[in-house]
Amino acid sequence: MPIRCEIVSQDRLIYEGDADTVVLPGIDGEMGILPNHAPLLSTLNYGVVRVRYQGNEEAFTVAGGVVEVQPDIVTVLADRAENVREIDISRAEAARERAERYLEEGPPPDSDAYLRMDAALRRSRLRLDAVRRYRGRGGRRPDIPSVLEDN
Ligand code: ATP
Repeated sequence: MPIRCEIVSQDRLIYEGDADTVVLPGIDGEMGILPNHAPLLSTLNYGVVRVRYQGNEEAFTVAGGVVEVQPDIVTVLADRAENVREIDISRAEAARERAERYLEEGPPPDSDAYLRMDAALRRSRLRLDAVRRYRGRGGRRPDIPSVLEDN
């Protein structure tokens, strides 16, 4: 029996389907969830959620959030999430450049604008890194962790 997986972001349903395994960027490292897992509630890091089903894998960027696991369903509630296949590279590059330029100007580090731009920079880096690692590779890359060290 597969486990159900739902990934929801603040603005939309990103994914709904069956899974043999769901790999999550847990706050203390990667978490692999199989069907009939014990109930669990956990915070997620910035990183990539990988949903494997019948030999296929879909990868999703999540900019933090929470996961609830029940024996028959994994629900990811993410602050932002995208299927890696739908990430617009030019948009992410533009967002990264905008944030880098802004932060180079040296705004007060505790200001709202600084924190907003710093978060935007982390999201853009996550998206670009995920495209590089996961897009078009058609499957599992057990050698590469899904939690990014540099954000
Ligand atoms: P931008 O400055 O390009 O809008 P952002 O990081 O500020 O980027 P968010 O506020 O994180 O954008 O996201 C707004 C919506 O757009 C969300 O639904 C998010 O999933 C989507 N999104 C953001 N960047 C991209 C991208 N590069 N490709 C595809 N979808 C994206």
